[in-house]
Amino acid sequence: DQARTPDYLSGLNPEQREAVETLDGPVLVLAGAGTGKTRVLTTRIAHVLATGRAFPSQILAVTFTNKAAREMKERIGVLVGGAVEGMPWLGTFHSIGVKLLRRHAELVGLSSDFTILDTDDVVRLIKQIIQAEGLDDKRWPAKQFAAMIDGWKNKGLDPSQIPEGDARAFANGRGRELYAAYQNRLKSLNACDFGDLLLHPIRMFRANPDVLRDYHQRFRYILVDEYQDTNTAQYMWLRLLAQRPSASKRGTNPPNGRQGQAAVAPDGAPPWSEPQSGDSVNENKSQQINICCVGDDDQSIYGWRGAEVDNILRFEKDFPGAKVIKLERNYRSTEHILGAAGHLIAHNEGRLGKTLFTDRVDPNDEKVVVHAAWDSEEEARAVGEEIEQLQRNQHLLNDMAILVRASFQMREFEDRFVTLGLNYRVIGGPRFYERLEIRDAMAYFRLVCQPADDLAFERIVNTPKRGLGDTTIRNLHDYARARDIPMLQAASDIVLTDELKPKARKSLLDVVADFTRWQDMLDTTPHTELAEKILDESGYTAMWQNDKSAEAPGRLENLKELIRSMEGFDSMRGFLEHVSLVMDAEQNENMDAISIMTLHSAKGLEFETVFLPGWEEGLFPHQRALDESGRAGLEEERRLAYVGITRAKRRCHLWFVSNRRIHGLWQSTMPSRFLDELPPAHVEVAEAETSYGGYGRGGGYGQSRFDKQEPFQSSYSTPGWKRAQANKTDATRENWGSRSGHSVERIGYGESGPRGKTIDG
Ligand code: ATP
Ligand code: MG
Repeated sequence: DQARTPDYLSGLNPEQREAVETLDGPVLVLAGAGTGKTRVLTTRIAHVLATGRAFPSQILAVTFTNKAAREMKERIGVLVGGAVEGMPWLGTFHSIGVKLLRRHAELVGLSSDFTILDTDDVVRLIKQIIQAEGLDDKRWPAKQFAAMIDGWKNKGLDPSQIPEGDARAFANGRGRELYAAYQNRLKSLNACDFGDLLLHPIRMFRANPDVLRDYHQRFRYILVDEYQDTNTAQYMWLRLLAQRPSASKRGTNPPNGRQGQAAVAPDGAPPWSEPQSGDSVNENKSQQINICCVGDDDQSIYGWRGAEVDNILRFEKDFPGAKVIKLERNYRSTEHILGAAGHLIAHNEGRLGKTLFTDRVDPNDEKVVVHAAWDSEEEARAVGEEIEQLQRNQHLLNDMAILVRASFQMREFEDRFVTLGLNYRVIGGPRFYERLEIRDAMAYFRLVCQPADDLAFERIVNTPKRGLGDTTIRNLHDYARARDIPMLQAASDIVLTDELKPKARKSLLDVVADFTRWQDMLDTTPHTELAEKILDESGYTAMWQNDKSAEAPGRLENLKELIRSMEGFDSMRGFLEHVSLVMDAEQNENMDAISIMTLHSAKGLEFETVFLPGWEEGLFPHQRALDESGRAGLEEERRLAYVGITRAKRRCHLWFVSNRRIHGLWQSTMPSRFLDELPPAHVEVAEAETSYGGYGRGGGYGQSRFDKQEPFQSSYSTPGWKRAQANKTDATRENWGSRSGHSVERIGYGESGPRGKTIDG
């Protein structure tokens, strides 16, 4: 009976099977999207467990997100036919790092109840340190230094190890000293930051070979998904755990002798139940560590956050005797989707290069479709139509996703779906109107329209900072409560008394004057203009403009998008009402809903139908990536495009708009160069009439929306393609037809500066 292949193996192709069954020694699976890399990892774990080679607690498995870890665990349970108890070491690098540190905190000078600081805490702490050193924190912004420290930590560098040039770049050459001071301060607070979750374990292992030895004995199998996006610190961490000093050549140590023993332990427990003392698995101390990493160099999309795709290239050198397995058969997508993605990514240089094919060749399969829209509102409208059409044909929303390049793009879709009553969920981040900067801005608008909104008042009274500390707010609160009046009212009363310190009083006086002025303008000034004024005059926009953190540019983009979104409403009040409806939209795990997320957070996922909006120069490829990283930035953007297209199983729809409205001004855009890089054989351009058939008067939007303007015929540029006929206004004439029309104004998506969180999801 033993010769019978277990079910979980029989569905695999020979290469996948080899990757699963090569349990001894290092294995690298290097393969394109949808070839079953993640499936190989999951099956490998199931195989290790089912054959009794290791207990769940002896397997270290690293996924890129916590969600992926949960899914992997569930899947393993299905494969081995029953829930897997344990798997305590299945998670992201960070979550595993926390676990290690809690166990050994004292070895790095912490106690086990250490706190993990979030980004805000970190910045506050660094600011204190900068000030304590007598430095001007305006000249040397804490956020900028926080980003530098994070970069060093991703590279695995302690203060003594940072490059001379880096150290010189901050605070007149005091970078190293400040970094060391920061680390000391963390220690005295019994705290660590995210980077420490990676760095502390490395320090600990290096300084305590005996502890490392224990883990060498514990972790029989190490598995890493999305290996192309590991950073240097993670890589060092893996090498420490996976390379024993005395490592012998692969294959020389016999595998665990439990293979071939009864699959079920005498007491009926499955073979992977926790080891009893004296158990043979634990006692066999001569075993080697078997590491298996899977990845795809073409899907490396976190270079901007310190990921090193070179880690893949170094694998064979660092793990001598590694078996490198290539998977070439794609199980996910149609030949058109693969053809389009493959042709696109071939424009990158310096790839390892991979073959990818699919057996599914179905003449009914749709080509990848490129759609043109006038602007993002029409884009959202048309995508909504497509979705409804699919729904009418019995497709589930759960099988569809919208993947955006920048998170501000989500707003238009969220609004549209609420209008249509389509359920949606935002993955990997807050919904548009739940974002911090949007909530802040909305609090200003609410307070202008509804002066009794105390929650709004408290939210923004000291945002941006106006020197109105907790004491002042408490005073104000008491004053308002005692008189049963709203806080804004209390503020305008209290400034006439001498209950506050002069400085606080002056600040509050300004706040009151601002709001009085804005309220007076409510009925006389166009509401979008007023909204912009409020954000400018309050100093809120400036607060983010002066912010040196990586998230700031994305937040500014979102604020612009917020103002833009108000244009569709008659008044500020109407807009506020609309937002409360959107916020009320149901969000629950079990409902059938379309997913909206950034391309970055779509990694590893798959959907029947994928919509990819916003394929325009400046947005995708993103201008900041091009400005900051040049050719490398462009190539990373192209990999992101490859990731996007390869999420689709059956249908992939790309969109570009010819106008984006920024700051109330129409700006022309050019179709993304990535569209030109798609192969005509696998791609078709949608007839404008087709995509807009369901609404407007008479089809093409030239006639429906812009019929007062002189229409002209235009076409998408790639020669040999079926031409998309659409009527456009003069505004887009120059650039619509050809990307070579360089006279066209570029859209600035946010200020230049480090690329923000918004694009990482
Ligand atoms: P990505 O690079 O996007 O992370 P991947 O290489 O990890 O992709 P998987 O997600 O593991 O690919 O697999 C892609 C799809 O193909 C999944 O739906 C998976 O179940 C399916 N699949 C993989 N291998 C097989 C197989 N041998 N038989 C049938 N389906 C398979
Ligand atoms: Mg995968």
